[in-house]
Amino acid sequence: QTNMLSIRSFMILFLSCIAVRMNLCFTGIPFSLRMLYINGHFEFEKVEFAARDFGNRYQYYPAAILHPSSVSDIAMTIKHIWKMGPGSELTVAARGHGHSLHGQAQAHRGVVINMESLQGPQMQVVHTRSFTYIDVSGGELWINILQESLKYGLTPKSWTDYLHLTVGGTLSNAGISGQAFRHGPQISNVHQLEVVTGKGDVVNCSKEQNSDLFYSVLGGLGQFGIITRAKILLEPAPTMVKWIRVLYFDFTTFTREQELLISGENTFDYIEGFVIINRTGLLNNWRSSFDPQDPVQASQFKSEGKILYCLELAKYFHHNKDNNNVDLEIKRLLSRLSYIPSTLFISEVTYVEFLDRVQVSAVKLQSKGLWEVPHPWLNLLIPKSKIKEFAEGVFGNILKETSNGPVLIYPVNKSKWDNRTSVVIPEEDIFYLVAFLTSAVPWSRGNDSLEYILTQNTRILDFCKTANLGAKQYLPHYTTRKEWQAHFGPMWETYVERKRAYDPLAILAPGQRIFKKAK
Ligand code: FAD
Repeated sequence: QTNMLSIRSFMILFLSCIAVRMNLCFTGIPFSLRMLYINGHFEFEKVEFAARDFGNRYQYYPAAILHPSSVSDIAMTIKHIWKMGPGSELTVAARGHGHSLHGQAQAHRGVVINMESLQGPQMQVVHTRSFTYIDVSGGELWINILQESLKYGLTPKSWTDYLHLTVGGTLSNAGISGQAFRHGPQISNVHQLEVVTGKGDVVNCSKEQNSDLFYSVLGGLGQFGIITRAKILLEPAPTMVKWIRVLYFDFTTFTREQELLISGENTFDYIEGFVIINRTGLLNNWRSSFDPQDPVQASQFKSEGKILYCLELAKYFHHNKDNNNVDLEIKRLLSRLSYIPSTLFISEVTYVEFLDRVQVSAVKLQSKGLWEVPHPWLNLLIPKSKIKEFAEGVFGNILKETSNGPVLIYPVNKSKWDNRTSVVIPEEDIFYLVAFLTSAVPWSRGNDSLEYILTQNTRILDFCKTANLGAKQYLPHYTTRKEWQAHFGPMWETYVERKRAYDPLAILAPGQRIFKKAK
């Protein structure tokens, strides 16, 4: 039987090489894919789903979608394409939940692997002597990992603001949220990965084992391998959260206090912030989910025509066990801050409600058909020393309104990031994530149109460049090799070396447009 299989593999390879050389395909699809022995299946007809993403601006149709049942389906497919050599145009993109912004999970005329259909061992919580982790599929959604961990009273430490994203998708970028100041991004909280490289090899890697591949893949934009399993570090979970918002008029005070809060150990468990420009009835809107501490003063507060900075905080606690303590602790921490007193709003929610908070808005937008609009998002990492100059140049100048989506701004500690990973961050000890999470209104010609927002993004990027702010794009998007080289700076050589080692034909993640498949 082994002999029969190898004869069959040889025939498939032989015929596909001939097909490639002669440019022969059945209905434009390399027919050899149809003949691969896999447990899952290929979809060749209905492929539109893999040509769409959250950004809703790029649409590249693949030749096929692989719905893998097992890691070996992925390995076999990639190995097959690898063996076809440089003559074939076929590339492979892993698709997590398709929440990319610029077609990063797409593969024009290639194979898109639908990671969510990857099956394997069930999620499993494992205790070692020194730490606890959950072993999950690379296509697992973070919301499911949260639910499973909570059954054991445990939780991952570091999050994204939205949980309906896959492990492989966020670990390919970084995974940043309000816990990153303390725990680092999600890529700092991984114990081990199982990866399929661009040669089709299945490799386990960690800090101790195949460490170069481990660090390459983390923040690697899908360039070095497909994450098929991950072991994510856990800690004891709280049950409840006090969720707090306060406003500032003064940017310097706002950022100074954010930096103060992220520098101590006895602080909040989540620290973020956002900018609000010229919004009417802001505090009235908050009342639907938060309680004002001073209702009379809060009702008299006027937000229109102003630039305001909102500090958003959370303190975790256990219901019944530490109700009183948490209030005292919050009082102590807030007493060090100089926000506008009448703008203190607090809400008490469950831990799951807090972490899954964006889903509430997502469902509302979906019901109104407003989730599937173009999202010309821009995410930047700005060094602490330049954040004031950035704010002066952008808020109220280039950006006149924030009504088309939130603008997040919060600092993180560089010491919690591992410089051996592939992610690019600014040089300083503290840097800010500034995220312009804008939605464009289709057919609009005003300042909520796609064209207007894209021009605004270009102006922001130009300003960062001219003012030499040392900003880096997060979830980066570039179209030329020169721009990518500038993005990576001194890391570029290492990045190219890693590509040569793990995906020498540049088969993987073509939608990032960093490398072109060798012909
Ligand atoms: P996809 O879009 O499917 O894929 C992204 C990239 O990763 C592609 O290049 C793809 O080929 C590659 N990839 C996917 N799966 C794998 C895998 N298993 N192995 C290797 N490569 C793979 N990011 C943050 O850091 N913090 C946030 O708070 C945050 N909030 C967000 C909120 C929303 C509403 C959205 C839409 C995005 C948000 N993001 C945030 C960005 C998000 O982390 C990235 O867009 C991420 O890539 C989305 O995950 P996904 O599973 O949809 O990946």
